[in-house]
Amino acid sequence: RVSAASEALDRLIATVPGFPEPGILFRDLTPVLADPDALRAVASELAASAHGPYDAIAGVEARGFALAAAAAAVSGTGLVLIRKAGKLPRAVYRREYALEYGTAALELHRDELPRGSRVLLVDDVLATGGTLEAALGLLADAGLQVAGVSVALELAALGGRARLARDDVRAIAVV
Ligand code: AMP
Repeated sequence: RVSAASEALDRLIATVPGFPEPGILFRDLTPVLADPDALRAVASELAASAHGPYDAIAGVEARGFALAAAAAAVSGTGLVLIRKAGKLPRAVYRREYALEYGTAALELHRDELPRGSRVLLVDDVLATGGTLEAALGLLADAGLQVAGVSVALELAALGGRARLARDDVRAIAVV
């Protein structure tokens, strides 16, 4: 069965070769955000994708913020921001992760939620899984329970699902 959300993603995601650098096939979800029915369908499916109840949705900067915020509004939960290093003003947990060249880091405010809160982790695209692996590390650092890991689009050939090695990773669409 093809959901309205997966149909909308298939129809609206723009594939851009060579962005941001040669060899990358960039999957641009901005047309999904701009379409009211598609945005509502994707946000609703993300919100419904958790294993059990949750207190908040964590979104990963930057495109994950948009989907996580919409899904949090649908589910009536809070929104937690997992940001690139140096953007959050208060005390943070920090996780570094490897990029193709060099490293990057993600941060989470230490006191954003009470320890033990249940959080659904959301991003736009699962590629190699390095980003979500770092984000999961931050949720663990903060003592938060993971209620699921959900993305709009999974790039299956890049092996992110195997890297995360969890049984609660959901993708609405897979290419
Ligand atoms: P990764 O850490 O390799 O799983 O990469 C995931 C992050 O990079 C996500 O936040 C995506 O937004 C972005 N990303 C990686 N590859 C692509 C791609 N081909 N098209 C669009 N976004 C991508």
